[in-house]
Amino acid sequence: MSEERMEFQAEVSRLLQLMVHSVYSDKEVFLRELISNASDACDKLRYAAVTRPELTEADPEFRITVTLDGDARTIRIADNGIGMDRDDLVRDLGTIARSGTGAFVDQLSGDAAKDVALIGQFGVGFYSVFMVADSVAVTSRKAGDETAWTWSSEGTGTFTIAEATREDRGTTVEVHLREGEDEWLEGGKLSGIVKTYSDHVAMPITLVDGEEESVVNQGSALWTRSRNDVTEEQYTEFYRHAGHAFDEPWLTVHYRAEGKVEYSVLLFVPSSRPFDLFDPARRNRVKLYVKRIFITDDCQELIPPYLRFLKGVVDCEDLPLNISREMLQTSPMLAHLKSAISRRVLNDLEKKAKDDAESFTTFWDSFGAVLKEGIYEEQERQEAILKIARFRTSAEAGAWVSLDDYKARAKDGQQAIYYITGDDADQLARSPQLEGYRARGIEVLLLTDPVDNFWLTTVPEFDGTPFRSVTRGSADLDEMAAGDQDDEAAEAPREADIATLSVALKQALGEQVKEVRASTRLTDSAVCLVADEGALDMHLERLLKQQQQLDAPSERIMEINPRHDLIRGLITKVKDEGAGAGIEDAALLLLDQALILEGESLPDPAAFARRMSALMARDVT
Ligand code: ADP
Ligand code: MG
Repeated sequence: MSEERMEFQAEVSRLLQLMVHSVYSDKEVFLRELISNASDACDKLRYAAVTRPELTEADPEFRITVTLDGDARTIRIADNGIGMDRDDLVRDLGTIARSGTGAFVDQLSGDAAKDVALIGQFGVGFYSVFMVADSVAVTSRKAGDETAWTWSSEGTGTFTIAEATREDRGTTVEVHLREGEDEWLEGGKLSGIVKTYSDHVAMPITLVDGEEESVVNQGSALWTRSRNDVTEEQYTEFYRHAGHAFDEPWLTVHYRAEGKVEYSVLLFVPSSRPFDLFDPARRNRVKLYVKRIFITDDCQELIPPYLRFLKGVVDCEDLPLNISREMLQTSPMLAHLKSAISRRVLNDLEKKAKDDAESFTTFWDSFGAVLKEGIYEEQERQEAILKIARFRTSAEAGAWVSLDDYKARAKDGQQAIYYITGDDADQLARSPQLEGYRARGIEVLLLTDPVDNFWLTTVPEFDGTPFRSVTRGSADLDEMAAGDQDDEAAEAPREADIATLSVALKQALGEQVKEVRASTRLTDSAVCLVADEGALDMHLERLLKQQQQLDAPSERIMEINPRHDLIRGLITKVKDEGAGAGIEDAALLLLDQALILEGESLPDPAAFARRMSALMARDVT
C-alpha cells in the first residue's frame, strides 16, 4: 500500500520543535491530552448516533483502553469513538485550528525557559505527545466507514498517511517512547497518572499491563455527582480536561437546578487570563450537554459574552437531544438558562469578593475589563456588576476600590462619584484637572479600560449617586471647603480683571477654544482643557477619533488658574498695557501646554518650538 508524505503547517512545525526539545517538567500532561481526545471522540459519536443509531448498533458501549508494552517501549491509547478518515487526519493532526493557538505560537520566543512557562498556561493538545515520543502512529477508522488510515510522524517537519486495517471504528494512538523516557513504562506510575486524569471521564478506562487488566475510573459524569462526592483534585482535573487549561480554577460553580427547567452546571473561572480574551473572534467554549450527551462546545446563546472567560459544562434535562443549531439560537429555554447561570455566577463572584477580597482583586485584574462589558450589554445585570466592580483611584496608588468603599469615604457635601478616563492610571493621577479635587481630599476614580468610556454613557448613577467626569463641565467644587486655600483666596485677583484676561485670551485663540474661563479645579497648574457639559468626554472623543468614528472634534474650554503666578502676571500685563501683541504668543503657548498635558498632538509643533525658544531667549540674553 502506498504511503504519502506531507508537510506540517508552519505553526505546527514550530510547536513540534518546542515539544521535541521540551524541558517542561510536567510531561505527563501528554496522557491527559490523549485521553481527553479519546473521550471527546466518544462524546461526538454518541451525539451523531442520536440521528444515526446504526453507527453504534454493533458496539454501543463506549470505552477507552490504555495498553503498556515494556518490551516494545510503547503506550497505546485506543477508543471506540467517532474516528477520523484520511482528510480528518491530515487536517486535525497536521494543522492547528483551535482558537488562541495562533496567538500562543506567536508568543513563542525560542527561549526554552520562557516558552516552557507558556506551555504551562496553554494546553497544546495532541502535539504534546512529542515531549516523550520519538515516533507516533495514529490508526483510525471513522464510524460508518470501511477503510482505516494510519498517520505517523517522528515529530519533525513531516508526517505520512497510508491505508491501514482496523477491526472496528475508533482510533488507536501508539506512542513510541524516546530513550530516557523510561519512567512511563512503569505500570504503577502510569496507572496512578491515568487515574488522576481520568476520574471525571464519563466512560470506563481500562489499563492493560501485561496480564493485568483493570478499570481505573468511576466512569460517571463528574457534574452529575454532588459537591460532597467530588474532591478538589477531581475538580481541577476536570477543569483542565474540559477547559483545555493548564492552570488551577480560581472559582468553581457547581450546582443542580430543579425547577421549571432541570439542569446541572459545573463552571470554572480560570486563575489566569487566556491569550485571546480580547480577540473579537473569541467565543466561549462552555460545553452543552443534553441528558449527559455532548451537543456542542460552540453555543453562544448559553453564556453571555461578558462571561466568556468561563469554562466547563452545562447539562440540561429538558432540551430535545436532536436539537439543531437554529433551534439553539431561538430556544426560550436556552435564554432562561443563560439568564439563570449569569445571575448565579455573578452571585458567587460577589460572595468571593466578600470572603476573599485580596484574591478577588487578582481576578478583577484579569477579567474586570471583560466583565464591565456586561454593564452596558445587559441592563438586568448592571447593578450586580457595578457592585463587584473594582477601580483604581487617586486616593491610593495601586489599590482597587469598590463603589461602596468610595461612597463610604466621600466628603461632606460631595454630590457625585468623580472619575477621569485615560490610558494609564499613573498618568491620570497627575492630571491638572484633578488638582482641585485632591486639594479638597476628594477621591477620583482613574478609569483606564476602553470599555469604561462606553458603560459610563449608559449608567447615570450608582445607588443614587451620579457619576461625574472631572474633565467635563464646570467643576462643582465651590460648595466644598478647599481647606488650606482660604487665606490665599483673599489675595486672588479681582473678578473683573480675570474676565478681562479671559476675553483677551479668547480673542487671541479665536475658534481654537470655545471659551476661556477661570477654574476652580486647578490649584498648581496654570491651565487645563475641559469638555463642555453636554459634549463628549475628551478621552472618549480621542478614542473615537482613533477608530475613525468621528471627524469633527468638539470645541474645548480652556480654564485658567487665577492664583498661578503666570496668570497673575498676564492679568497685570493686560491691565497695564491692554490686550496688545504680547498676549497672543502667551495664549498659544498656554493652549499648547494644555494639549500636551492631555496627551494630544500639537496642531503646529514648529510654531510651538519657535515661540518657546523666543520666550527662553528673552530669559538668557
Ligand atoms: P483539541 O482536542 O483541542 O481539538 P488536539 O490537538 O488534542 O486539539 O486534537 C486535534 C483534533 O484531532 C481534535 O479536535 C480531533 O478532531 C482530532 N482527534 C484527536 N484525537 C482523536 C481521537 N482519538 N479520535 C478522533 N479524533 C481525534
Ligand atoms: Mg485535545
